[in-house]
Amino acid sequence: MTNQKVLPFALDQLKLASEKLDLDKGIYKILKEPKRAILVSVTIENDSENIGVFQGIRVQHWDVKGPFKGGIRFHPNVTLDEVTALSMWMTWKCAIANLPYGGAKGGICCNPKKMSTKELERLTRRYTSLIFDYLGPHRDIPAPDLYTNEQTMAWMMDTYSQLKGYSVPESVTGKPIEIGGSEGRKCATANSVAFCTREAAKIVRLKLKNATIAIQGFGSVGYNAASVMHNMGCKIVAISDSSGGVFCSDGINPERLYSHKIKTGSVLNFDTCVNITNTELLASNCDILVPAAMENQITGKNADDVNAKIVAEGANGPTTPKADRILFEKGVYLIPDILANSGGVTVSYFEWVQNLTRTHWTLDEVNNKLENKIVETFYEVERLSKKEKSDMRTSALMLGVGRVAHAINTRGLWP
Ligand code: GLU
Repeated sequence: MTNQKVLPFALDQLKLASEKLDLDKGIYKILKEPKRAILVSVTIENDSENIGVFQGIRVQHWDVKGPFKGGIRFHPNVTLDEVTALSMWMTWKCAIANLPYGGAKGGICCNPKKMSTKELERLTRRYTSLIFDYLGPHRDIPAPDLYTNEQTMAWMMDTYSQLKGYSVPESVTGKPIEIGGSEGRKCATANSVAFCTREAAKIVRLKLKNATIAIQGFGSVGYNAASVMHNMGCKIVAISDSSGGVFCSDGINPERLYSHKIKTGSVLNFDTCVNITNTELLASNCDILVPAAMENQITGKNADDVNAKIVAEGANGPTTPKADRILFEKGVYLIPDILANSGGVTVSYFEWVQNLTRTHWTLDEVNNKLENKIVETFYEVERLSKKEKSDMRTSALMLGVGRVAHAINTRGLWP
C-alpha cells in the first residue's frame, strides 16, 4: 500500500485548490513543479567493509517566502515521486502557519532497521556532503522525518559545520538541546495534533474526557501523540506499528506499551490487548483516529470503514483525495496533515530563530507560542471551510496555495 505513487494525489490537491482560488494558469504551472530536485548516489563502506550504494534525494519545491525547509527520511520506499509530493506539502504547510520558509523534503532509500549506528552515521555524513552546496541556514534547513532523529541532525549539523570551518547550529533543526536544539521540539508534532483535535472536538461536540482514540504508528509522532492525549484524559484503545496493532477497550497506557516495544521489538502481544492488523486499526471503534505512520493509508477502498468522528493526520499524506471525499460525505471531521502536524516545523522555526539570535527559550515559552499559533491557524482554516462549505483539507490548501501564489505574483519573475 505504501509504495503506491503519491505525487498524483498532491497534484490533484493543488489542482482543486487552484480551481477554487481561480488561480492564474501561469502560477499554477509554476507550483506544479519543484524548483530543484537533487539526486545523489550515497556510497559508504559498510561494517563488513563492502561498498553500499544508496539513492539520496533532496527536492526543493518552492522558496518564494524564505529558505527551503523540511525533513529527511530514511526508508526503503523513498522515491523521487514521494519526496516531491512531500516537498510540495511542506510549502503549503509553512505558508499556512505563516512561517518565512519554502518547502523541501529529502530522503535516502535504505533500510535503517538493518543498519548499524556507524553505518547510519556514514550514510548521513556522506549525503550531507553531497548536497552541501544546496544547504545552509538561509538556503535550505533540514529536520528529522521518518526513521531519522536528533542524532541524525547532530551528524548533519556537524558535517555542515566541518565543511564550513565553523559551527552553524542554525543549519538544521530538531537537533539535541546541547548543540542548539529547542525545548519542546520532540513533542511538537504530537502537541499540534492534540491541540487541533481538542478544538475539533469542541466543534463536533465530543467530550475529550474518555474519548476513545486509535493511533496508527508508534514512532516519534504516534508515541508522543498517545502520551499527550492520554494525559489529556482520552482513552487510547488501539495502537499499531509496522508489524501490526493492539486493541483494548479498557484503554492502553502508552508508557507501558513503549517499554514493551523496546523489550520485544513491536507493540504486539501486549498485556490483555488483542492483536489486530493495521487495516483493522483504521476501522476500529473509536471517536478519534490518528494516522501517524505513512502515506496512502486511508484510501477509496477503506475510507467507508472508518468509524471515527475526527481524523487527525499526524502523518503526511495518509488520506487519498478519493478517501477525503468519502470521509467528508460521511460527516467525518478531518484535520489535514498540513495543519495537524504543523507543530513540528513550527517549533523548528522557533529553534532556527533561537539559533540565529543566540538565545534559548524555556519549555513554557515554546509550548505557549506553539499553542497560540496552532489554535489561531486552526480557526483560520475552520472559518474558511465554513465560508467555502468545503472540507478542512480544501480550505487549508486554499490558504497555503493562495499565500504562495500571492508571494510569487508580488516578487515577479526574473531573469
Ligand atoms: N518532518 C517534519 C514535517 O514533515 C518536520 C519538518 C521540519 O521541521 O522542517 O513536517
